[in-house]
Amino acid sequence: MHRKKSSSLGLVLFLLVIAGIFGGIYFLNHDPRFEKVKPVINMGKEIFWNPENGLEIDVSDNYGLKNIEVYVEDGENEEKISDIKLSGDKNYKVEVNFPKKGILAKDNFLKLTIVVRDKSLWQFFRGNKTVKKAIVSIDKKKPELTLINNSYSIGKGGSGVAIFRVKDKSLKSVYIVTNFGKKFYPNPFYKKDYYISLFAWPIFQKKFRAWVVAVDKAGNKTKQYIPLYVKDRNYRVSYIKAKDSFIDGKIATLAEDRPERIKNMNRLQKLNFVNAIYRVENEDLIRKVTTPVDNSKINNFNIKRFYPLRNGAVVGTYGDHRYYYYKTKDNIISESYHMGVDMASVKHGNIKTSNKALVVFAHYNGIYGNNLILYHGLGLYSLYGHCSEFLVQKGDVVKAGTIVAHTGKTGLALGDHLHFGLMVQGVMVRPAEWMDQRWIKTHITSIIAKAKKIIGN
Ligand SMILES: [Zn+2]
Repeated sequence: MHRKKSSSLGLVLFLLVIAGIFGGIYFLNHDPRFEKVKPVINMGKEIFWNPENGLEIDVSDNYGLKNIEVYVEDGENEEKISDIKLSGDKNYKVEVNFPKKGILAKDNFLKLTIVVRDKSLWQFFRGNKTVKKAIVSIDKKKPELTLINNSYSIGKGGSGVAIFRVKDKSLKSVYIVTNFGKKFYPNPFYKKDYYISLFAWPIFQKKFRAWVVAVDKAGNKTKQYIPLYVKDRNYRVSYIKAKDSFIDGKIATLAEDRPERIKNMNRLQKLNFVNAIYRVENEDLIRKVTTPVDNSKINNFNIKRFYPLRNGAVVGTYGDHRYYYYKTKDNIISESYHMGVDMASVKHGNIKTSNKALVVFAHYNGIYGNNLILYHGLGLYSLYGHCSEFLVQKGDVVKAGTIVAHTGKTGLALGDHLHFGLMVQGVMVRPAEWMDQRWIKTHITSIIAKAKKIIGN
């Protein structure tokens, strides 16, 4: 009797212990403070370091980080160069400095060990740990940069080209940068270590200066000025009367593309909305489509002059600063810049591409109406606005001489015409240059030919 009672008590105790164990396991598995995901060290197995600069280490964790230790080793000595307590955030960029003495970089190589722990209570409250080892290549050498050839001049709103050579064992990026911060990215050119890039002077910038910049993985940087004769250029200012028929017709229709935005706007506000605000939105999309450069190697860039509309009369020029006034000239209600050239021929005229291209955009785009954009390589794009019809679609590769669309009056256009534009890595440039075979030869193709001569076989 007594035995039986004691054994049932034992069973209860046994079950309680089991329940406690399972409960504990359940708790450890479900309480976030005991999470088991290891931290991540975002770094390759081979890194480049100039000892004069700090080395940035990028660490992250799903829960939060507790500390980081960094060691360097030269084969004989090991030195702890960092032991930092972290305050529990998920991401850190920790900068460590090269040891002042005690470590010798034999043959310019070192071993690096990084130990990171998260703030989890797992592993008996020590946290989850990640250890990463990397080979450090000591790199104090700046990239070697030689300018081979470039256009000798550039005009405001215009384009140019530069060819240069960059050599470095750990090259990270090469680009052209301007005084106003715009970067132009090059394509590989002709032979190993050579690059080519178009660049452009946006019409809104008063001055133009440009440099080639090369940066390696150790942060060593070389910058070289591109000597250019810069030519300022005046663009036309015109005053256009905004007639009621225009505002109530085209403007009102285009404003309806954004019904929620034009609520409570009067007719003059609607004109400014379409002409200035909606225009910026449409041109932002164009910039987004026309900024990328493909990474293909350029051997030749035999661009022919653009001549999109046979017998097309120029009815609007690039760069016009247009003021719209209502009733009297002193009542300016909106202004804009015309970023292409308007050409008119016959109704539904054939639009031809003079150069082979990839179709990158064929879609309605606000004031540009049915808008076609073609890519010709080296960051150069051509644009066709107000089309009545597309004869190609996005993704098509078209040969030089192909009829790609018909002119029309979609978007902000009163009569049937073509709005033709050219972009260099997102900058809307003066089409007249690229429509002139002599300009192309002097400023682009002969510069490239001479560069190839200098580089040799
Ligand atoms: Zn136009």
